[in-house]
Amino acid sequence: MLRRFARIARSQQPAYVELIAGAAHVLDRAPWLGGETTGECLPGFDDEAVGPCARLAPVEPRKILCVGRNYRAHAKELGNEVPVEPMLFFKPSTSLLDPGGEVVLPPSAISARVEHEAELAIVVGAPLKRADEAAAASAIFGATVACDVTARDLQKKDGQWWRAKGMDTFCPVGPVVVSGLDLTELPIVCSVNGELRQRGNTRDMIFSVPRVLSFVSQVMTLEPGDLILTGTPEGVGPLAAGDQLRIDVDGIGALTVGVRAG
Ligand code: ZN
Repeated sequence: MLRRFARIARSQQPAYVELIAGAAHVLDRAPWLGGETTGECLPGFDDEAVGPCARLAPVEPRKILCVGRNYRAHAKELGNEVPVEPMLFFKPSTSLLDPGGEVVLPPSAISARVEHEAELAIVVGAPLKRADEAAAASAIFGATVACDVTARDLQKKDGQWWRAKGMDTFCPVGPVVVSGLDLTELPIVCSVNGELRQRGNTRDMIFSVPRVLSFVSQVMTLEPGDLILTGTPEGVGPLAAGDQLRIDVDGIGALTVGVRAG
Protein backbone atom coordinates (compact mmCIF):
# COMPACT_ATOMS: atom_id res chain seq x y z
CA MET A 1 0.00 0.00 0.00
CA LEU A 2 1.30 3.44 -0.91
CA ARG A 3 1.47 5.92 1.96
CA ARG A 4 2.46 9.57 1.62
CA PHE A 5 4.11 11.64 4.34
CA ALA A 6 5.11 15.30 4.59
CA ARG A 7 6.29 17.82 7.15
CA ILE A 8 4.54 21.11 7.76
CA ALA A 9 5.26 24.35 9.60
CA ARG A 10 2.35 24.81 12.00
CA SER A 11 1.99 27.83 14.25
CA GLN A 12 3.00 25.73 17.28
CA GLN A 13 5.85 23.66 15.91
CA PRO A 14 6.72 21.67 12.81
CA ALA A 15 4.95 18.35 12.47
CA TYR A 16 5.15 15.21 10.38
CA VAL A 17 1.86 14.40 8.71
CA GLU A 18 0.36 11.60 6.68
CA LEU A 19 -1.56 12.81 3.64
CA ILE A 20 -4.83 10.95 3.14
CA ALA A 21 -7.51 12.10 0.69
CA GLY A 22 -6.50 15.78 0.76
CA ALA A 23 -6.09 16.01 4.53
CA ALA A 24 -2.94 16.11 6.67
CA HIS A 25 -3.13 13.78 9.66
CA VAL A 26 -0.64 14.99 12.28
CA LEU A 27 1.82 12.41 13.64
CA ASP A 28 3.52 12.52 17.02
CA ARG A 29 6.97 11.92 15.47
CA ALA A 30 8.61 10.95 12.21
CA PRO A 31 6.91 7.94 10.60
CA TRP A 32 10.23 6.02 10.38
CA LEU A 33 10.53 6.44 14.17
CA GLY A 34 7.13 4.87 14.71
CA GLY A 35 5.07 8.07 14.53
CA GLU A 36 1.36 7.64 15.19
CA THR A 37 -1.60 9.88 14.49
CA THR A 38 -2.49 12.36 17.23
CA GLY A 39 -6.09 12.72 16.06
CA GLU A 40 -5.46 16.25 14.77
CA CYS A 41 -6.38 16.55 11.09
CA LEU A 42 -5.85 19.57 8.84
CA PRO A 43 -7.88 19.83 5.61
CA GLY A 44 -6.75 21.36 2.33
CA PHE A 45 -3.49 19.54 1.55
CA ASP A 46 -2.61 17.86 -1.71
CA ASP A 47 0.41 15.77 -2.69
CA GLU A 48 2.26 18.73 -4.15
CA ALA A 49 3.74 21.40 -1.90
CA VAL A 50 0.34 23.06 -1.45
CA GLY A 51 -1.62 23.54 1.75
CA PRO A 52 -2.73 26.05 4.34
CA CYS A 53 0.71 26.16 5.97
CA ALA A 54 4.25 26.04 4.66
CA ARG A 55 5.68 22.72 3.57
CA LEU A 56 9.06 21.73 4.98
CA ALA A 57 11.68 19.28 3.81
CA PRO A 58 9.97 15.97 4.71
CA VAL A 59 13.06 14.55 6.43
CA GLU A 60 15.50 15.56 9.20
CA PRO A 61 18.40 13.19 8.48
CA ARG A 62 21.43 12.78 10.70
CA LYS A 63 23.35 11.78 7.56
CA ILE A 64 22.92 12.68 3.91
CA LEU A 65 24.88 10.41 1.59
CA CYS A 66 24.98 10.70 -2.18
CA VAL A 67 26.02 8.27 -4.90
CA GLY A 68 28.19 9.76 -7.64
CA ARG A 69 28.19 8.54 -11.27
CA ASN A 70 25.44 5.96 -10.81
CA TYR A 71 24.14 6.31 -14.39
CA ARG A 72 26.44 5.44 -17.32
CA ALA A 73 25.27 8.27 -19.58
CA HIS A 74 25.90 10.85 -16.85
CA ALA A 75 29.40 9.53 -16.06
CA LYS A 76 30.13 9.77 -19.79
CA GLU A 77 28.76 13.31 -20.24
CA LEU A 78 31.28 14.59 -17.66
CA GLY A 79 34.10 12.54 -19.17
CA ASN A 80 34.34 10.12 -16.22
CA GLU A 81 34.84 6.36 -16.09
CA VAL A 82 31.99 4.19 -14.82
CA PRO A 83 32.89 3.28 -11.21
CA VAL A 84 33.52 -0.36 -10.31
CA GLU A 85 31.95 0.00 -6.88
CA PRO A 86 29.52 2.62 -5.49
CA MET A 87 31.14 6.04 -5.12
CA LEU A 88 29.75 7.99 -2.18
CA PHE A 89 30.08 11.43 -0.66
CA PHE A 90 28.29 13.47 2.01
CA LYS A 91 26.17 16.56 1.99
CA PRO A 92 25.74 18.34 5.35
CA SER A 93 22.30 18.61 6.93
CA THR A 94 22.62 22.41 6.62
CA SER A 95 22.33 22.00 2.82
CA LEU A 96 18.66 20.89 3.10
CA LEU A 97 16.12 23.16 1.41
CA ASP A 98 12.34 23.06 1.82
CA PRO A 99 10.15 22.46 -1.24
CA GLY A 100 9.17 25.85 -2.66
CA GLY A 101 12.36 27.40 -1.27
CA GLU A 102 15.20 29.05 -3.17
CA VAL A 103 18.64 27.70 -4.02
CA VAL A 104 21.10 30.47 -3.13
CA LEU A 105 23.93 30.82 -5.65
CA PRO A 106 27.34 31.62 -4.15
CA PRO A 107 29.16 34.81 -5.16
CA SER A 108 30.81 34.30 -8.58
CA ALA A 109 34.24 34.68 -6.97
CA ILE A 110 33.54 31.36 -5.20
CA SER A 111 31.74 29.53 -8.00
CA ALA A 112 30.56 30.61 -11.45
CA ARG A 113 28.96 27.28 -12.43
CA VAL A 114 26.18 25.80 -10.28
CA GLU A 115 24.27 22.87 -11.79
CA HIS A 116 21.17 20.76 -11.06
CA GLU A 117 21.29 16.98 -10.59
CA ALA A 118 17.80 15.45 -10.37
CA GLU A 119 17.76 12.36 -8.15
CA LEU A 120 15.62 9.76 -6.41
CA ALA A 121 16.37 9.90 -2.66
CA ILE A 122 15.87 7.04 -0.21
CA VAL A 123 14.76 7.39 3.41
CA VAL A 124 16.14 4.67 5.67
CA GLY A 125 13.55 3.00 7.92
CA ALA A 126 15.57 0.74 10.23
CA PRO A 127 19.13 0.53 11.56
CA LEU A 128 21.48 -1.15 9.09
CA LYS A 129 24.90 -2.47 10.00
CA ARG A 130 26.86 -4.88 7.78
CA ALA A 131 23.63 -5.81 6.03
CA ASP A 132 23.28 -7.90 2.91
CA GLU A 133 21.19 -6.62 0.02
CA ALA A 134 18.01 -8.42 1.11
CA ALA A 135 18.20 -6.90 4.61
CA ALA A 136 19.00 -3.49 3.08
CA ALA A 137 15.98 -3.72 0.79
CA SER A 138 13.66 -4.44 3.70
CA ALA A 139 15.08 -1.50 5.69
CA ILE A 140 13.97 1.09 3.10
CA PHE A 141 11.23 3.29 4.57
CA GLY A 142 10.40 5.13 1.36
CA ALA A 143 11.56 7.58 -1.24
CA THR A 144 11.40 11.25 -2.10
CA VAL A 145 12.70 13.65 -4.74
CA ALA A 146 15.93 15.60 -4.32
CA CYS A 147 18.33 17.82 -6.22
CA ASP A 148 22.06 17.31 -5.70
CA VAL A 149 22.94 20.93 -6.47
CA THR A 150 26.61 21.08 -7.44
CA ALA A 151 29.15 23.85 -8.01
CA ARG A 152 30.73 22.08 -10.99
CA ASP A 153 33.82 24.28 -11.19
CA LEU A 154 34.65 23.60 -7.54
CA GLN A 155 33.96 19.89 -7.98
CA LYS A 156 36.58 19.79 -10.75
CA LYS A 157 39.04 21.92 -8.79
CA ASP A 158 38.78 20.45 -5.27
CA GLY A 159 39.94 16.97 -4.30
CA GLN A 160 37.08 16.65 -1.80
CA TRP A 161 33.58 17.84 -2.76
CA TRP A 162 32.55 19.43 0.55
CA ARG A 163 32.29 22.89 -1.00
CA ALA A 164 30.95 21.85 -4.41
CA LYS A 165 28.12 19.79 -2.93
CA GLY A 166 27.74 21.17 0.57
CA MET A 167 26.65 24.80 0.39
CA ASP A 168 23.55 25.96 2.24
CA THR A 169 20.39 25.26 0.15
CA PHE A 170 22.24 22.75 -2.12
CA CYS A 171 19.92 19.87 -1.15
CA PRO A 172 16.29 20.66 -2.04
CA VAL A 173 14.10 17.72 -1.04
CA GLY A 174 10.42 16.78 -1.03
CA PRO A 175 7.60 17.51 -1.12
CA VAL A 176 6.58 14.06 0.17
CA VAL A 177 8.08 10.76 1.26
CA VAL A 178 6.23 7.83 -0.28
CA SER A 179 6.41 4.34 1.20
CA GLY A 180 5.41 1.13 -0.53
CA LEU A 181 6.54 2.24 -4.00
CA ASP A 182 8.50 -0.05 -6.36
CA LEU A 183 11.67 1.99 -6.90
CA THR A 184 13.19 -0.09 -9.70
CA GLU A 185 11.64 1.62 -12.74
CA LEU A 186 10.68 5.22 -11.99
CA PRO A 187 10.94 7.97 -14.62
CA ILE A 188 12.82 11.10 -13.42
CA VAL A 189 12.24 14.36 -15.31
CA CYS A 190 13.92 17.71 -14.62
CA SER A 191 13.00 21.03 -16.18
CA VAL A 192 14.24 24.58 -15.74
CA ASN A 193 11.77 27.37 -16.55
CA GLY A 194 9.58 24.77 -18.24
CA GLU A 195 12.38 23.59 -20.56
CA LEU A 196 13.30 19.89 -20.37
CA ARG A 197 16.82 19.28 -19.05
CA GLN A 198 16.95 15.70 -17.77
CA ARG A 199 14.89 12.62 -18.55
CA GLY A 200 16.01 9.37 -16.96
CA ASN A 201 14.77 6.22 -15.31
CA THR A 202 15.87 4.51 -12.11
CA ARG A 203 16.15 1.19 -14.02
CA ASP A 204 19.39 2.61 -15.51
CA MET A 205 21.18 2.86 -12.15
CA ILE A 206 24.53 1.06 -12.19
CA PHE A 207 24.25 0.13 -8.48
CA SER A 208 20.76 -0.69 -7.20
CA VAL A 209 19.38 0.94 -4.05
CA PRO A 210 19.83 -2.25 -1.93
CA ARG A 211 23.39 -2.61 -3.24
CA VAL A 212 24.21 0.98 -2.23
CA LEU A 213 22.66 0.66 1.25
CA SER A 214 24.40 -2.68 1.85
CA PHE A 215 27.71 -1.21 0.66
CA VAL A 216 27.44 1.81 2.99
CA SER A 217 26.39 -0.34 5.94
CA GLN A 218 29.63 -2.35 5.75
CA VAL A 219 31.47 0.69 7.13
CA MET A 220 28.91 2.88 8.91
CA THR A 221 25.57 2.31 10.58
CA LEU A 222 22.62 3.68 8.66
CA GLU A 223 19.93 5.01 10.96
CA PRO A 224 16.20 5.61 10.53
CA GLY A 225 15.69 8.92 8.75
CA ASP A 226 19.06 8.96 6.99
CA LEU A 227 18.78 10.21 3.42
CA ILE A 228 20.56 8.64 0.43
CA LEU A 229 20.60 10.43 -2.93
CA THR A 230 21.00 7.77 -5.59
CA GLY A 231 22.73 9.60 -8.43
CA THR A 232 21.61 11.60 -11.43
CA PRO A 233 20.82 10.64 -15.01
CA GLU A 234 22.37 12.60 -17.88
CA GLY A 235 21.44 16.16 -18.82
CA VAL A 236 22.86 18.13 -15.92
CA GLY A 237 23.08 21.85 -16.65
CA PRO A 238 23.53 25.31 -15.18
CA LEU A 239 21.24 27.23 -12.84
CA ALA A 240 20.94 31.02 -12.89
CA ALA A 241 19.27 33.56 -10.61
CA GLY A 242 15.55 33.72 -11.35
CA ASP A 243 15.31 30.13 -12.60
CA GLN A 244 12.46 27.85 -11.58
CA LEU A 245 13.64 24.25 -11.14
CA ARG A 246 11.17 21.36 -11.22
CA ILE A 247 11.93 17.68 -10.72
CA ASP A 248 9.24 15.01 -11.17
CA VAL A 249 9.63 11.40 -10.10
CA ASP A 250 6.71 9.18 -11.10
CA GLY A 251 4.70 7.99 -8.14
CA ILE A 252 6.19 10.55 -5.76
CA GLY A 253 5.46 14.02 -7.10
CA ALA A 254 7.08 17.27 -8.17
CA LEU A 255 9.77 19.15 -6.27
CA THR A 256 9.91 22.80 -7.28
CA VAL A 257 12.34 25.45 -6.07
CA GLY A 258 13.51 28.87 -7.22
CA VAL A 259 17.08 30.12 -7.63
CA ARG A 260 18.52 33.42 -6.44
CA ALA A 261 21.86 35.15 -6.15
CA GLY A 262 23.40 35.09 -2.69
ZN1 ZN B 1 24.47 13.72 -7.66
